[in-house]
Amino acid sequence: PPPDALLLAQVTAGEDAPRRRAIAKTITLLESTRADHRLRADALLNALLPHSGRSLRLGISGVPGVGKSTFIEALGLHLIAQGHRVAVLAIDPSSSVSGGSILGDKTRMEQLSVQEAAYIRPSPSSGNLGGVAERTREAMLVCEAAGFDVVIVETVGVGQSETAVHGMTDMFCLLQLPNAGDELQAIKKGVMELADLVVINKADIDEHAATRARAQITSSLRIYGHHGHPDHAAHDTALWQPTVLQMSALKSTGIAEFWQTVQRYRELQTASGRLAARRHAQDEAWMWERIESGLRERFHQHPAVREALATTTQSVRQGRVAASVAARRLLDLFKLT
Ligand code: GDP
Repeated sequence: PPPDALLLAQVTAGEDAPRRRAIAKTITLLESTRADHRLRADALLNALLPHSGRSLRLGISGVPGVGKSTFIEALGLHLIAQGHRVAVLAIDPSSSVSGGSILGDKTRMEQLSVQEAAYIRPSPSSGNLGGVAERTREAMLVCEAAGFDVVIVETVGVGQSETAVHGMTDMFCLLQLPNAGDELQAIKKGVMELADLVVINKADIDEHAATRARAQITSSLRIYGHHGHPDHAAHDTALWQPTVLQMSALKSTGIAEFWQTVQRYRELQTASGRLAARRHAQDEAWMWERIESGLRERFHQHPAVREALATTTQSVRQGRVAASVAARRLLDLFKLT
């Protein structure tokens, strides 16, 4: 089908209020699971694509309570005062597991959410992480097409959601508390190697601890930073050493310095071609992630596979058929017709 012309026009060039409604409608359409909606959504998404991509995509993560929403609100207000338009999207891994919410979207960012130049979208609440990430990526494209020039994607410091956010943003920023225990946890989980920027928040509580943490994290980043990251081709340690900053989101100190650092990174990324390379790599990785997840789903739904699965599994358990042979047999049954 041709793309929905009215929605397309309203998202890309509308007046403020209709545009806002059009964004919400478009995102709702993209999140629908109905097949006819999906066809319309795909057409719309492709039509929006040429209008997208012109934003700075900033990923923000940190454990619950570290101050993410306080920080995003302060940063958002700072950016809007400079004339930017800011979209905030969230990936909440807890919502897909328990139906609950670690990010607790309802009461958050009250000052930011009333701004004309801000758009805040809570985490999609159904499906697995891959599905939630897919819908967030698509919402990001819609926001970009609607002229939001800074898109913040927020997640919590648990599970695979950080990798997902890292995989859809230009810069990944990790918020930390001013004590060393958390630093070690981040290293263990391999999150430190994702970070382009580390921010020690709540520096107002203990200035000395924050300074100490900054020094410790700076030195551990030399060891665990970008070098260790599997797609370090998208990073260039000669170009950028992950930077550690101190801040108080509550008192709004360190926000301007944070933004200056982001802009400096942005200039280096753009001039060196690393930004384009990172986005291309992300798009391609994402296509394959979706293909593999779709294949798995179709495999499980395939009639011949479903029919044979129980007995074949049984044969493997009883040691009558080798696991690899069973896999090949099932795969041979899986024909896409
Ligand atoms: P989130 O769960 O990461 O989104 O954290 P919140 O932004 O909700 O903050 C958790 C608590 O920490 C709230 O009570 C905030 O007021 C407080 N907080 C956030 N940033 C700071 C800070 O820089 N200094 C201090 N002292 N408290 C902060």
